[in-house]
Amino acid sequence: MKIICIGRNYPEHAEELGNEKPESPVIFIKPDTAKLQSRSPFYIPPFSNEIHHEVEVLVKIRRIGKYIEEKFAHKYYQEIGLGIDFTARDLQQNLKDKGLPWEKAKAFDGSALIGNWFDKDNFTDFKKLDFKLNKNGTIVQKGNTSQMLWSIDTLIAEVSRFFTLKIGDIIFTGTPSGVAPVVENDILVGYLGEEKAFKVNIK
Ligand code: MG
Repeated sequence: MKIICIGRNYPEHAEELGNEKPESPVIFIKPDTAKLQSRSPFYIPPFSNEIHHEVEVLVKIRRIGKYIEEKFAHKYYQEIGLGIDFTARDLQQNLKDKGLPWEKAKAFDGSALIGNWFDKDNFTDFKKLDFKLNKNGTIVQKGNTSQMLWSIDTLIAEVSRFFTLKIGDIIFTGTPSGVAPVVENDILVGYLGEEKAFKVNIK
């Protein structure tokens, strides 16, 4: 199982980090060891002083595919979810400045929080779905899937040009604005529509 992440898929988030809006989706991968076990706390790793939360809508792939046409992409997923792409922003900035790959900042153990899964048909319209992240009782990030620069179906078509998608692969579809550091004892709760998708304690 692999985790495919999309960067800069919401215009306001690209702006807040001073990034240009890309001409095509930014894609990177986290290994299966990045998955944070459910109900496990997130432990701030010793190599970073600035771990950011990035709340993102997730898509679970349910059939194998390569060169998937956008018009058929909807057949490749039934469940969507919500998670966090934990990012060592200090390390990432350092790597970006040097033009180096981001893996150490993005793909470390525990960096992919994967919440509960929901049938996409349970939502009135999952392509216009609100989601939010609550930190210690305050909403710190909120978005709507309609704000994506590239829709889920477009992303599946684009990603599968480069990487064969396999059953159980997960796509992180990018974060809206509001990314910020986490500190010890923070409690993060994510909601997809009205559904509670995860709760995680920062240690
Ligand atoms: Mg992200």
